[in-house]
Amino acid sequence: MQYISTNENSPAVDFISALFRGQAPDRGLYMPESIPVLGPDEIRSMKSKSYPEIAEIILSRYLAGHIAPERLSALCRDAYNFDVPVESAEDRLYILRLDRGPTASFKDFAAAMMARLMSEFRDKGGKRLVVLTATSGDTGGAVARAFHGIPGIDVIVLFPPGEVSGRQRRQMTTLSGNVTAIAVDGKFDHCQALVKNAFADPVLGSIDLTSANSINIGRLLPQSVYYAYAYSRIADHPEPMVVSVPSGNFGDMMGALLARRMGIPISRVVVATNSNDEVPQYLTTGVYRKIDPSRVCISNAMNVGHPSNLARVVSLYGGRMDETGAVIRPPDMDAMRRDLFAISVSDAETRDSIREAWTDGRILLEPHGAVGWVGLRRFLELRKNGGRPLCVAVETAHPAKFPEEIERLLGFAPEIPPSLAGLDSGSESWQDMPADYEAFRAFLAERYAA
Ligand SMILES: *Cc1c(COP(=O)(O)O)cnc(C)c1O
Repeated sequence: MQYISTNENSPAVDFISALFRGQAPDRGLYMPESIPVLGPDEIRSMKSKSYPEIAEIILSRYLAGHIAPERLSALCRDAYNFDVPVESAEDRLYILRLDRGPTASFKDFAAAMMARLMSEFRDKGGKRLVVLTATSGDTGGAVARAFHGIPGIDVIVLFPPGEVSGRQRRQMTTLSGNVTAIAVDGKFDHCQALVKNAFADPVLGSIDLTSANSINIGRLLPQSVYYAYAYSRIADHPEPMVVSVPSGNFGDMMGALLARRMGIPISRVVVATNSNDEVPQYLTTGVYRKIDPSRVCISNAMNVGHPSNLARVVSLYGGRMDETGAVIRPPDMDAMRRDLFAISVSDAETRDSIREAWTDGRILLEPHGAVGWVGLRRFLELRKNGGRPLCVAVETAHPAKFPEEIERLLGFAPEIPPSLAGLDSGSESWQDMPADYEAFRAFLAERYAA
């Protein structure tokens, strides 16, 4: 299996190169050159399989030749040693709760596997590997936790202090050891720009840099697994399901699209964004305009004005979008509109839905999952005919990550899951930095350049 750049201007590489490069040399994102298709029997067989076993089935298709089956199986069992509840909310409507991992967000699914793959494939005799990550909320914590304590690897997370919750910050700042947290005086987009500049900077060429952002193929692939898993728990092949994905950088929804191409019967992917509505607008108008600066919403991990995975979505539909968001070759917009239902949800609607879901059904949502929940509702309302399809709304974080918001809306603070217990008392450390590339370059050069 080879991996090709969405910019179509770099040589194809194998999985290991794609994993460590993060971004392709032409600034595109790596995509598998073809998407493996699972047979109907294989999909049916998932019914009796555990989450780690389903992860192994899917990932083995992308890693074939690089890792022994027993080894991959061990990594999957080690990474996915927590619950993945598929909760029945209403008739034919389920909530997939991806919040039981070590940092209580869905980013754990990808980070846990990527860290294990990097640790597995790293050149053990080589230089220190430096993992750079910009975060709008949850990536930093998940990546920091996944790599914490792995020998030979350092993690640097850049976060916008004004946009992350206290608990999100603490997940990055209380680890120390091989984890360094940097508070960038700016927004998520500034953090992401610093990371992207560092990768393109020849001055830093001697440093073994890699990315753990959702541009990394090692994060993308594991995000297709939970769609297959959810399907196996609620459906009988070939009955299709609708999935609703609260989206920011579009890595999670790309996971759904990959699962679909692999043969998991997904009839529609509802892509729900907050007020950063550049993609719903794109699907409506056919014209892509990024939002700069991105808008600050309560679903803070989705405050993204130019989703980095959009280039992958476009490539999946035969188009080409470069890293600046310019459409070099238009994708098949009709097919995209058939497969996706993209909708923007305001903070007011998000808050209302958290209140309603609790009052009407004792369903506890947090701001990100609530955006997906509203998106699914709108989709179902607009459907004219037929009964309700089988639906899965993805809940991407634990409500206890946003205690202030939940308390304000519902009058109580959510119970703290074991993964977050102890966080509030740990001691924090981080570095402050202006949103200025010279400063970031100097920091990296001083620490790592030989
Ligand atoms: C990152 C994140 C999202 C958005 O996921 P993308 O893959 O960036 O679209 C949604 N919800 C939560 C809680 C997140 O941390």
